[in-house]
Amino acid sequence: VRTFGRPRVVVSSCLGFEACRYNGVGLPDALVKRLEPFVDFVPVCPEVEIGLGIPRPTLRVLETGGGLRLVQPATARDLTEEMVAFGRAFLQRVGPVDGFLLKSRSPSCGLHDVKVYAGAASPAPLRRASGFFAREVREAFPTKAAEDEGRGKNFAIREHFLTGLFASADLRGLVAKPSLDALVRFHSTYKLVLMAYSQKGMRLLGRIVAHTDGRPAAALVEEYALHFHEALQRAPRCTSHVNVLQHAFGYFKEELSPREKQHFLRTLDKYRDAKVPLSVPLALVRAWVERFETAYLADQVYFEPYPDALLEITDSGKGRDL
Ligand code: SF4
Repeated sequence: VRTFGRPRVVVSSCLGFEACRYNGVGLPDALVKRLEPFVDFVPVCPEVEIGLGIPRPTLRVLETGGGLRLVQPATARDLTEEMVAFGRAFLQRVGPVDGFLLKSRSPSCGLHDVKVYAGAASPAPLRRASGFFAREVREAFPTKAAEDEGRGKNFAIREHFLTGLFASADLRGLVAKPSLDALVRFHSTYKLVLMAYSQKGMRLLGRIVAHTDGRPAAALVEEYALHFHEALQRAPRCTSHVNVLQHAFGYFKEELSPREKQHFLRTLDKYRDAKVPLSVPLALVRAWVERFETAYLADQVYFEPYPDALLEITDSGKGRDL
């Protein structure tokens, strides 16, 4: 049975922790609720932290000759410096973090899709950008899992986000108690995850584990951690998952009947053609891992990268791919 580290996640307070939005309400979020038993949340409301009240006049991101600015049109206050200074100070003192779940489209918290206007009264946005607190998050923690709550409704995005959170928490456990044995074990159990995410990263990490050159375990683990986070930065493509599943399928070729094999290959085609989600071929392989007691595959994080209780079948309908 896989044991999970407990990710520490910075979250926008309005997503179910405080009624701190500009209009004095909160916005409870289903993913936050489901995650609650498995993660330690660190809620923060950057706008309240810089001294804006609840309720408060809304903020806007403006395009100016001097770059993007965060302003409050109703009071003509420019809050750019305050927000940047708060973001930097908060992120410096926040301690170990495995990821960020932030409110979408907010001029402070939104990681994507924040409207940028030409002026305080312009009706239509010029373009989209990140919010000001979110920009500091990206700057301070470029390799950590970070998502807007809205995008978390998409299956592939959520899968990537949750995998990153729990992998980072596992890795923190290794960094806290570094040993060569633990590093070898970690790398071995993450083999298929790395194969799906980045073959190049997998090879690089394999070399770190194999060629220790007598270096202390703590230094090796530190180098490994750096490259591990980099390897997991971009979500795997569908074709990468197909490769991993075919690789795993190879372990059962002798045991399976021709009909079972055909059924699996047809399922894989359906996944490739976006007719079924990844969980469908994955469930077949997981069942065979149990049935044939394939020790190497049973240890692979790939088959349960985060607690099964976090799986859900609903999707935003925005498609499987990022
Ligand atoms: S989006 Fe961010 S700044 Fe706005 S209310 Fe939520 S936590 Fe506060």
